[in-house]
Amino acid sequence: MRGVDETIFAISSPPGRGWRGVVRISGTAAIPVAAELVRLSSGEDPLQFAGHEVRDGEVLPWGDGPSVPGSLVIMRAPRSYTREDVAEIHTLSSPPVLAALSERLLERRIRPAGPGEFTRRAFLAGRIDLAQAEAVIQIIEAEDEASLRAAQRKLEGGLSKRIGSLKEELADLLARVEAGIDFSEQGIEIISDEGIGTSIEQLRLGIANVIDGQGAGIGSIRDSGIHVCLAGVPNVGKSSIFNRLVGEDAAVVTAEEGTTRDFLRATFEEDGIRFRLTDPAGIRDSKDPVEEEASRRARELIRSSDIGIVVVDGSREGAPREDEIIQMAPARSMLLVINKSDLPRRRGQGESIPEDRVVITSARTGMGFEELRTALVRIARTGKGTGPGADYMLAARERGLLRRAMEDLRTAARIHEQGGMDRLASDLREALDRLGEVTGEVPNEEILDRIFSRFCIGK
Ligand code: GDP
Repeated sequence: MRGVDETIFAISSPPGRGWRGVVRISGTAAIPVAAELVRLSSGEDPLQFAGHEVRDGEVLPWGDGPSVPGSLVIMRAPRSYTREDVAEIHTLSSPPVLAALSERLLERRIRPAGPGEFTRRAFLAGRIDLAQAEAVIQIIEAEDEASLRAAQRKLEGGLSKRIGSLKEELADLLARVEAGIDFSEQGIEIISDEGIGTSIEQLRLGIANVIDGQGAGIGSIRDSGIHVCLAGVPNVGKSSIFNRLVGEDAAVVTAEEGTTRDFLRATFEEDGIRFRLTDPAGIRDSKDPVEEEASRRARELIRSSDIGIVVVDGSREGAPREDEIIQMAPARSMLLVINKSDLPRRRGQGESIPEDRVVITSARTGMGFEELRTALVRIARTGKGTGPGADYMLAARERGLLRRAMEDLRTAARIHEQGGMDRLASDLREALDRLGEVTGEVPNEEILDRIFSRFCIGK
């Protein structure tokens, strides 16, 4: 790896002409070189600044040539992002000015920063952990407000804290198992067999919750409410259910197939939770391009919803497309509604769907709607509770590590059942290492390169 003792710089404002151009310099030479490139209006010498200072002045991109207005920001170690001395030259975002400043820095042997190198230094200095570094990328890449907030909370330590407490529990269990091995020869029982099994199970649940309680799922109650989407073949009563839930005739209910061509959306509240209900077009094969497009959008709406309500008509045999629709709904937040229960029942409730996920209704009489509302609230709450939003969003790397930790624990549980204490300890240690990798406790060069290469230069 390139030396951390080197001073690095980057233009950290967006490329092109703009309001403000920023050159960020980090390392021991940062303040002296910046002091040569900016003449402060106050006449002060930046080298004398002790903490965090901002001053206006003249920027000198061409040495003795013309100057441009700007300002200098000094952040002395360790009170900076990288925990090194950092200087920022803020000036006009003029490409020739920034190019000339870069030239001056290169002449002074200041090296251009690689992608994410400032954040990498912040990580290496222990200012942030790896999960937080990944949150920086997620902030940059966030496309909506909810994911931006989740990434910000992750940067503040939302995920790190949860991983930290799981690690503590696991380390504690490991210590007891290891002590158990030492003492068992002397006939002293440190931890009961049952205790081990329960602890492993709890840890697995804890990790599963971390995996589940993330951004896109229902674990996060978004600021815009819980997104609920109705799904089902045409004519099963989706629009009628929509109207019942929303409490007004917001949707047009008709007996003609495929009338709900686009989608309807309305919000309703239940037990203090805001639900945003969508009724997309009925899903079916169609040659009509308008219908086809509507079906495609319906699928998208269902896939991206927090809770999918799959509606079937209880008075008819199952339709061929229903299984596919059930598959589309988010598995851990799917409700199967068997509607038209005022008519004679002609179908079962489906093979693989757990009892507590099935609600029997009649949109005609209103039967079963209390249960439906209760079920929605229950699903909405079984995530992370009614907090203001997710504390984090998992990166693929993090999710992979958590899944592997769960597998290690599963193996550990099996070994424990068979009574192999030595191997049990080694599997627990593996799981502990995986959790440590999430926050980057033992930094691995290759992984760091992979993560930081996704950053842009200047971050
Ligand atoms: P969608 O195509 O799935 O949105 O279905 P609609 O809500 O438009 O309903 C289709 C037809 O079924 C209409 O004639 C409704 O009046 C009728 N319907 C809806 N729910 C029920 C119900 O619970 N019982 C009975 N008997 N008919 C219903």
